[in-house]
Amino acid sequence: MTQVIDTSSPLRRAWLRELGIERVWGATAPVPAVAMESATPVQATQPVAEPPPIPVRQMRREQSPVVPPPTVAEAPVPAAPAPVQDPDAAWAQLQAEVSTCTACALCQGRTQTVFGSGPRDAQWLVIGEGPGEQEDRQGKPFVGRSGQLLDNMLRAVGQTRDTVFVTNVVKCRPPRNRNPEPEEIAACRPFLERQLALLAPRQAMSVGKVSAQSLLGTDATIGSLRGRMHRVVLGEREVPLVVTYHPAYLLRAPLEKAKAWRDFKMAADNAAS
Ligand code: URA
Repeated sequence: MTQVIDTSSPLRRAWLRELGIERVWGATAPVPAVAMESATPVQATQPVAEPPPIPVRQMRREQSPVVPPPTVAEAPVPAAPAPVQDPDAAWAQLQAEVSTCTACALCQGRTQTVFGSGPRDAQWLVIGEGPGEQEDRQGKPFVGRSGQLLDNMLRAVGQTRDTVFVTNVVKCRPPRNRNPEPEEIAACRPFLERQLALLAPRQAMSVGKVSAQSLLGTDATIGSLRGRMHRVVLGEREVPLVVTYHPAYLLRAPLEKAKAWRDFKMAADNAAS
């Protein structure tokens, strides 16, 4: 017979620890009743480890009236696990959600959202700041002059828009091309996290200060962040991240292109390794 235990409460975790099956059963898992019945109770005088386990006898004596060990009737029934969604369906749903999003004020000024473009099996994810006027009109990221430079830099390391997925930290154009505000980036973040989860790229690259700072949670300059490999946690995924200058900046400061090329090269080498 199988009994379901919610191991999220400290008390129940301590209880599983006492039974010696905490590691085996993880966060929330069915525990065979036989395993629980055959476990040997631990003496109340047993030395206390860190974090302190609650001896079973003591737990029963002192805490049972408050939080009794689960019985078949009382054990919380976890929600049925969400069915594993077909990734294509999940992607389509994500696109639909982005296209109708009203989570922040940027939705009021957009012509359309800019989800991102590129293949679903891309090894690279390039993350810019936000759509500009052209992107807002065409619904694609990096289609203006800075997009052409981005394409050239990608080509220099053997990549194209057909091999790289390109998106932004916000999917709607900020008014007058201003930088997106932190709360706008935060509102859009779940979309980026879901994109990353579904794309599962080997390498991410942030172009521009806003993208790098928001992804890494820092106010450090690009100059101090670029030139080395970072790791960024987005949702449940962690991915290597290279930081580089925004192509719009490189158009104004072409001497920095050599550094950007080295950053692209580092990302390409890591993605291929
Ligand atoms: N700049 C960005 O950061 N993203 C775009 O899509 C276009 C310009």
